Amino acid sequence: MDNNTRKLITIAIDGFSSSGKSTMAKKLAKTIGYAYIDTGAMYRAVTLYCLRNHLFNGDALDVEALEKALPEIHISFAVNADGKTETYLNGENVETEIRQMHVSSKVSIVAAVGSVRRALVRQQQAFGKDKGIVMDGRDIGTVVFPDAEMKVYVDASPETRAQRRYDELKAKGDNITYEEVLANVMERDRIDSTREESPLCKAADAVVLDNSHMTIEEQDKWLLDLYNQRSKQ
Ligand code: C5P
Repeated sequence: MDNNTRKLITIAIDGFSSSGKSTMAKKLAKTIGYAYIDTGAMYRAVTLYCLRNHLFNGDALDVEALEKALPEIHISFAVNADGKTETYLNGENVETEIRQMHVSSKVSIVAAVGSVRRALVRQQQAFGKDKGIVMDGRDIGTVVFPDAEMKVYVDASPETRAQRRYDELKAKGDNITYEEVLANVMERDRIDSTREESPLCKAADAVVLDNSHMTIEEQDKWLLDLYNQRSKQ
């Protein structure tokens, strides 16, 4: 069955940090010719704005100042020369900086602010209004697209996820220890799953993928098989 005989659907992929969801979501989108949106990158870009504009004092965030600044924070995506989607904050390419530890260590605090979530969710819903999109995050199947035809909830142990993130950061030349990465992964898990606003939780109709012991090829195939089922006319 080719793409012309399939219906366009919305694909929501949620899960904890470093569960590998972005890698698999990106790959699936490319294979099936869908748009891809990394919503974590949007929360990261807002966090970078807060850091640059001194809205943090330690872990204390000036929520009032952030709410005032929200109309001035514009996040967009563009595909670069090698086909990789990159994140822009007010027109500046911030793709590399938003992945660094100073942003990771504050992002869950920003993502817990209701007004930030409402603004970003509105933008995410606009991106996906015509379907044909793969979006990954924490609340895509529960809040952003509760009617998505395909919902996946990705799970893996904190140690497996920390090892993946550590390997990624090391490959980029970051000077960091495994213990620091594990502590950040566990702290973000805690904040993301206990916050009042849209905590990370599995949508009732999501399919769970535990990829702790799966190869990338196995998980890509699993995801493509599910897409083939869900997009049948
Ligand atoms: O996916 P990633 O780890 O890059 O996301 C960074 C952070 O953004 C998460 O730890 C979480 O606090 C927040 N987030 C969120 N809702 C989303 C996506 C990300 O709260 N839909």
